[in-house]
Formats: sequence, C-alpha cells, structure tokens
Amino acid sequence: MDMDKLVSLCKRRGFIFPSSEIYGGINGFWDYGPLGVELKRNIKDAWWHDNVHMRDDMVGLDCSIIMHPRVWEASGHVGGFSDPMVDCKDCKGRFRADQVAVVCLHAGQDFADSKREQRFWFSALGDSQQAVAEANGKDYKKAEAKLATHPNGSAARTFYPISASLGQPEYADFPCPTCKKQGTLTEPRAFNLMFESHAGAIADEANKVYLRPETAQGIFANYKNVVDTGRVKTPFGIAQVGKSFRNEINPRNFTFRSREFEQMEIEFFCHPSEAAQWYKYWRDTRFQWYVDHGLRSDKLRLRDHDPDELAFYSKATADIEYSFPFGISELEGIAHRGDYDLSQHQKFSGKDLSYFDEERKERYVPHVIEPSAGADRATLAFLCEAYVEDEVGGEARTVLKFHPRFAPIKAAVFPLVKKDGMPELAEKIYRDLKRQFNVFYDEKGAIGRRYRRQDEAGTPFCLTVDGQSLTDGTITIRDRDTCRQWRIASSGAVQALRDLLEGQPIPSGE
Ligand code: ATP
Repeated sequence: MDMDKLVSLCKRRGFIFPSSEIYGGINGFWDYGPLGVELKRNIKDAWWHDNVHMRDDMVGLDCSIIMHPRVWEASGHVGGFSDPMVDCKDCKGRFRADQVAVVCLHAGQDFADSKREQRFWFSALGDSQQAVAEANGKDYKKAEAKLATHPNGSAARTFYPISASLGQPEYADFPCPTCKKQGTLTEPRAFNLMFESHAGAIADEANKVYLRPETAQGIFANYKNVVDTGRVKTPFGIAQVGKSFRNEINPRNFTFRSREFEQMEIEFFCHPSEAAQWYKYWRDTRFQWYVDHGLRSDKLRLRDHDPDELAFYSKATADIEYSFPFGISELEGIAHRGDYDLSQHQKFSGKDLSYFDEERKERYVPHVIEPSAGADRATLAFLCEAYVEDEVGGEARTVLKFHPRFAPIKAAVFPLVKKDGMPELAEKIYRDLKRQFNVFYDEKGAIGRRYRRQDEAGTPFCLTVDGQSLTDGTITIRDRDTCRQWRIASSGAVQALRDLLEGQPIPSGE
C-alpha cells in the first residue's frame, strides 16, 4: 500500500488533517477530523474497556499534563531524555545522529573505504540478521545490497551507529543529508526532548515546568493515593490514556512520529517473585489484542530486546512492531521495569512507597510491568491494515476494512430514491439506530456512489429502503467487505445491526 494514497484519503475524507493547515501547517502536529476522531476514540475506548472495565485488577486514572518538575528529575527525563543530534555547520540543518549514518547508507556511501573502523548494528528484525552480519563485517556495500532486496527495504533506515564502547562513527566523514557537503557535520550533542514552559507570571528557571513526555509518571506519582484509597491489592494495575509531548527532532511518517500524541499506558504492580510471569502475560495479551482487532499476523511482530538493548533497570522488554509501508516500527513496548520507578520516586519525594501485602504479611516495593501503547500509532496501523483497493462489478473502489468495533460509522441508512415515502421510512430507521450507534443518513446521489462513499469511510453496513420496503416492511442490508446484500425486517434493524457488529456471520448466498 502506498502511504501517499492513505494520507490523501485521510485528508479527503476527514480522518486526519495537518494541524493549523490554513497557516501552512506545523511540523509534527496533526488534527483528527470528523471520521478520524471517531476512529481514534473507538480504539481508545476499546483499549479502556478491555483493560479496565473487563478486569477486576485494574483501575483508571487521569493526571495533569504539567506536573511538579521533580517528577521528571526522578524519572530520569531531565537528565537523560535526549537524542544525540548533529548539526550541519554549513546549511544549519539538524539531524538525529543515527539517521545521518542511515542516509549515507542509502546514498551508497562506501563505508568499507572509510579510514575509520565503524561498526553498525541493525536494530530491526531477525530476518535481516544477515545484513547485520555483513555490516558488522564492514562490507557495507553487500549489506546495503541485501537490504535493497529485502521486502522491507526501507528498514535500512534503522541502521544505527553503535554505542561508544564499540566505536562511534566520526560524523565529519558523513555528508550532510540535506546539502550533501562533506566535513560540515558536528559531533553528536544531546538534545532534550521535553517541551518546556513556565507556570506563573515570571518566565525564570524557578518557574520552569515541562509538558509530560509520557503518561506513565503520573501513575507512579499517584500510586500511593490509589493504594491508600483502598480499592486495590497486588497484583493490580493503573491505566491512563492521555496526551504526551516530545519535541522530536525529526517528526515523520505521517502521525507515526509526532510532537504531540496520545498514549495508552498501564503500570501493573506485583510481588517481585511474580513479575516475570506477569511480564510474559502482558507481552502476550497485548500482542493478541492487535491480532484480535484485525492486524494480520504476518505484519505484526513481537520482538524481544537483546540484553544489550535493555535500559539498565529493565529486566526484559518487548516491542510490538507493525510492518508499515515506511518500514517495521514500534506500536507498543512492554517492559519489566523492576522496582526502578517507585524506588526513584521514593528517593526524590522522601515518601514511603512500599506496600504491605496483607496476604503474604510482607512489606515490599512492588515490581512493575509497563505495557505502553500509542493511540496515534495504533490508529495509523489500523488505517494501513484496513486500506484496500479492489473491484466490485467491474468498478474500482477504495475500502477501509476496519474491525466493526473501530469503524467510525457503524451503518448508513439510505432511501433508494428521494420519493414515494422512502425517505420517511429510512429516516425513522435512522432515528431508531442513532440511539444506539453512530449512524449516517444520506439521500443524495446515485445509490452506487453512496455505497462507495461509505466503503471509503469504512462503514461496515448500509441499510437501504426500496420499493419493496413500502409493501412488505423489509429493507436491504449490504456488507462492506463482500458487497453481499440480503433483506431484513425494518422493524428488526437495531437488533440485526447489533448482531452483525458483534460478529454474527453474514448470510451466505442470495
Ligand atoms: P520510538 O523509539 O519510536 O521513539 P519510544 O520507544 O521512545 O518510541 P516509548 O517511550 O516506549 O516510545 O513510548 C511508548 C509508546 O508511545 C510508543 O510505543 C509509541 O506507540 C508511542 N509514541 C512514542 N513517541 C511517539 C511519537 N513521537 N509519536 C507518536 N507516538 C509515540
């Protein structure tokens, strides 16, 4: 699937617009239009329903975006939340250090000829290991050739210069990705990704605050409140959905890497002896959630981090990755964080954050498993997966085959023609359905065109009132994916739609 086509459909049909577009847009910020807001909301609601309402061991939370600045010292974000950046002294471009090396690789730079010893690792997936091996053997031409023939050729972007211990590349050896001059790049410098602001009238250091770069810390900061209000005992989780902000150096790939985005995060607190089991449970459960909602298993992967990729406090981490048109990239990370976060907040706040386990008669700092997902990345993956171009009755159409749970509009109701009492009956059906579902009424234009517009919006079912409806009270119902039509009693439309949305198979034949 071509990403440009998806981006243009999103714009044309009102899923996603560039933010502030009438002023030329602003890099890294996006707005969700009338269909997009429904889609994203359905995804967040499904996540909340499945992880909070359907469980006995989870409660929700909604924290402020701006928190006490000490929170971000304790979490390590003030000190460490940065990407190494290189600047071009000539054209003043600024790039993420890892991406400079990658651009060179794409440009066919012969690293093997470089006077420096440089080693690279390939952060993506097992089936490209050969390319990694060749890159590590310094045969970059061969590694590049291998990647070019790889089905996910764009994964070449994920060549990262390896850490200092294995030898950093000299950036002066690389041409600037923009102006292509050699020797103009500076060495990498840290660039903090947190947006800063000031709380209060005076914009000085003492008033400095940050927009949260993740929702997780709000959960840790409230952990004691939740425990003290007495509703939970280990093992239990706290879930939060909300906006996060990161001043990404290079926002790209549509909404995939934005500067303002939404996260859906869980911190799951348990006894240290059970943490490994819970980690496995969450890793598998979260993976299955995407499969159950229609992401095809050949496009979805669970990648366990190698021990040398782990944060020093993490005992294990896995990424759920999706094969986007622009490459294989992370949708969600599941991390076994040990007692790191609570211990840090204990240290920085001076408050006791240990937990007394009534059953075990034991006091301990719980260990934490963190499934951390992005609502925008999930929305983008479900959009990519749903996008299909096919042909019906010799006519090309574009259709978004969303899982019915996520579809922005659940059904559209049409009178076949705008006369003979058809609009009146159709409108009545529409009003009945609207009490329960987000439905759409349309009486304008040829019926075929109306169907195709709903296909593009991803509406699973269309209900049409025709001549026969006026004599026998039946209407047609059309299935988006197969275009099959059959008749139901108009009086039973609400129940019929509910059954279909809940997965009842559509009738065969007819
Ligand atoms: P990446 O390596 O892609 O920057 P990350 O590993 O820093 O992501 P986390 O800090 O683990 O991401 O954040 C958890 C989730 O939040 C990610 O899996 C992703 O879905 C989402 N997320 C993080 N950064 C962004 C962003 N800039 N735009 C959209 N979603 C994001």
